[in-house]
Amino acid sequence: MKCPYCNADNESKVVDSRSSREGVRRRRECDGCGKRFTTYEYIEKANIIVVKRDRRREEFDIVKLRNGVNIACAKRPVSIDEIQALIENVVRKTEALGLTEVESSEIGNIVMDELYLLDQIAYIRFASVYRDFKTVEEFVKQIATLVQ
Ligand SMILES: [Zn+2]
Repeated sequence: MKCPYCNADNESKVVDSRSSREGVRRRRECDGCGKRFTTYEYIEKANIIVVKRDRRREEFDIVKLRNGVNIACAKRPVSIDEIQALIENVVRKTEALGLTEVESSEIGNIVMDELYLLDQIAYIRFASVYRDFKTVEEFVKQIATLVQ
């Protein structure tokens, strides 16, 4: 594990570790300079098969989900921990459906519900990509439902 302060690639002591369904967050202390830093080790696949719009199947890709959420939350007052919690909620709620195959639209709706609670600008950004608005009218309609 490389230290981000002194770049030493040595053993760092784990001073705190928090596991969740979706990964492990570790607080480490560098042997070289003694500074502390955090590492995230994510589990990258959930045991869920996603059925896409064109009926093709693929594994639930949490990395892809996180990228989408990160982009939607860019420059918004949303922390890494909040995004992490959102992703864990999405995975938990998707698993709670109790299905081995889940429609991608279903997962999209869960993500939108969670984003709506977290940050409404991020929600609209995500919706504009996910819903694939073709016209300004569709976009305005989505915002109108938000304002109501
Ligand atoms: Zn160091």
